[in-house]
Amino acid sequence: MSPHDHHHHDHGEPGLGEHHHIHSKLPSDPALRVKALESLLTEKGLVDPATIDAWVETYESKIGPRIGARVVARAWVDSEFKRRLLADATKTLDEIDLLGNQGQHMVAVENTPQLHNMVVCTLCSCYPLPLLGLPPSWYKSAPYRSRVVIDPRGVLKEFGVELPAETKIRVWDSTAEVRYLVVPQRPNGSDGMSEEQLAALVTRDSMIGTGLVSLT
Ligand code: FE
Repeated sequence: MSPHDHHHHDHGEPGLGEHHHIHSKLPSDPALRVKALESLLTEKGLVDPATIDAWVETYESKIGPRIGARVVARAWVDSEFKRRLLADATKTLDEIDLLGNQGQHMVAVENTPQLHNMVVCTLCSCYPLPLLGLPPSWYKSAPYRSRVVIDPRGVLKEFGVELPAETKIRVWDSTAEVRYLVVPQRPNGSDGMSEEQLAALVTRDSMIGTGLVSLT
């Protein structure tokens, strides 16, 4: 199976070239159904689209990434755990039952003053769902997927992150089989903080590499 087979749809309809052409421009069936449902519920005044957006945002940025944040905080306070995480993230996370039988290979990459890691899926939107929840919409967008490879520093700047010129940037391209987790740098001045307090600082973007962790 090639890395991106899960996104390829062969409708097996020879002779329906025109239909297929139109179809390929529409969202995939589940997405289309959800959209149709949302439109209907909105039309009937049963839901407010802003409420749906707020829920999606909460799952993308608050609830979803909490598991990854706990992994990062543990790596910061437990050097033996960090060593094992960086050496074999799949095995280490599986031992504490964090991968939920997804059958994915996880790789953890550590940010240091010398090296900053960023994650993308250039072909589609592969993302470490068990650790980070739903991917943010920008992660799935064509501009992010294409530009982060060509100009990672420029993309980082748009996220409000400016790294020292001497910090190298490495971009990791996810596939259906291999997903990446960035272990961000622990912020200065966090020495006295508990693992739980540290976990609360870790943002989703910092684990994708489009953000840094700060004390505020
Ligand atoms: Fe993908």
